[in-house]
Amino acid sequence: MSDTDADADASPATESNALRTPIVAVLGHVDHGKTTLLDKIRGSAVSEGEAGAITQHIGATAVPLETVSQMAGSLVKPEDFDLPGLLFIDTPGHHSFSTLRSRGGALADIAIVVVDVNDGFQPQTLEALDILKRTGTPFVVAANKIDTTPGWNPQDGSPIQGSYDSQSDSARGRLDENLYEIIGNLSDEGFSADLYWRVQNFQKNVGVVPLSAMTGEGIPDLLAVLMGLSQRYMKEEMEIDVSGPGAGTVLEVKEERGFGATVDVVLYDGSVREDDVIVVGGVNGPIVTEVRALLQPRPNAEIRTEKRFDKVEEVRAAAGIKIAAPDLDDAMAGAPIRVVRDRSEEEVIEDVTSELAEIEVDTADEGVVVKADTLGSLEAMANALKEAEVPILRAEVGDVAPRDVAVASTAREMENKVILGFSVDVLPNAEDELETSEVRLFRDDVIYQLVEEYEEFIDERQRAQQ
Ligand code: GDP
Repeated sequence: MSDTDADADASPATESNALRTPIVAVLGHVDHGKTTLLDKIRGSAVSEGEAGAITQHIGATAVPLETVSQMAGSLVKPEDFDLPGLLFIDTPGHHSFSTLRSRGGALADIAIVVVDVNDGFQPQTLEALDILKRTGTPFVVAANKIDTTPGWNPQDGSPIQGSYDSQSDSARGRLDENLYEIIGNLSDEGFSADLYWRVQNFQKNVGVVPLSAMTGEGIPDLLAVLMGLSQRYMKEEMEIDVSGPGAGTVLEVKEERGFGATVDVVLYDGSVREDDVIVVGGVNGPIVTEVRALLQPRPNAEIRTEKRFDKVEEVRAAAGIKIAAPDLDDAMAGAPIRVVRDRSEEEVIEDVTSELAEIEVDTADEGVVVKADTLGSLEAMANALKEAEVPILRAEVGDVAPRDVAVASTAREMENKVILGFSVDVLPNAEDELETSEVRLFRDDVIYQLVEEYEEFIDERQRAQQ
């Protein structure tokens, strides 16, 4: 070993310099098993028994390396890793994930795309892959529900490759057919993929892990791939200054009794402390405010009891945390949040402003009004509409408000007197406005369905005019 190598090895992470936990998001089509997979990972971590097997954060679950290693058996040896574990974002789906990795920041560092091995690629699988492609986020495919393959003989606990090899020819044949269809579909989307044990370089190739979120078979392999991928290719991105100013993404804006409007945040860099000045992306631009309280869920607290949270003085990345501060009512899910510490407030405001501007929505003079629940979903909606060649007059995060009805009614064409609402509510006074206007409202929780409903409306109108 050369002197420089020795030096590098001898410089341990200092107090302020640390490797943070990689953040993992679970995406995929509805009913393909995202929730079951997250529950299984949390559940088996806890049943490993030790206190501290997992830590419940706001909006996320931290699984320390020790626990990952216990769950993954021989596949993850703690001595091979210096990353502290994995942080799983609890809410599956991709509403807020368009902001994944914008500008080196990260809501999530890695994604698991869950695909039902029998059902194959579906519209939301494609939507998820689009987001991952755009943001350059590395991902693994969990080919889920292998226990439903006829003739499959489950081998609980052992690595999936051995289990796969030991199946009857007919069970293997049926599974292979489905797995190779998934691999082929990935290739159609521009990703070179293979069964994970045949993948040499997880940065260049997507690993497909056959598993069952129900029985747990294959989950050790999934964890091993996630750990290996982060340790090998993402370690540098995990190096943070924990005493530096915090940076994160707003997952949700929530009203909490006793605190008013709060934001649930995934913190991926630095730290946040009580009394820090923060800048948060809001519907009407950046909000500058001061942290009143940092809240973590109180273990075993009853949902309905008053004392659901514990206050902490400081939180360090990576973590999920609830922040209570004045003036957060207009904060926006999916928006950036930054701590002002060693730079001026103006500079940080500028940063947040330019990150918000990165959400690309092309608007036209004449078009439909789009409302969505998060910045990420707004961007995903805008992309879907662009593909369908539907012009957008205005796109905003938030529930449908009277102002939206007023804006939509200014459209000249009937087909543009339309509001498309993705995962949003309608404010009561907007209902009244809608009734007395010509504006049509379409709402859905699935992007492609919403676009389809709108396209059907257009088709019907055109047919009626002929
Ligand atoms: P999500 O919408 O992607 O979160 O899907 P869910 O986790 O809610 O799963 C949808 C349905 O599939 C539920 O009825 C699950 O019990 C079932 N399911 C999920 N994973 C598996 C699996 O590995 N095997 C089997 N047999 N069923 C599964």
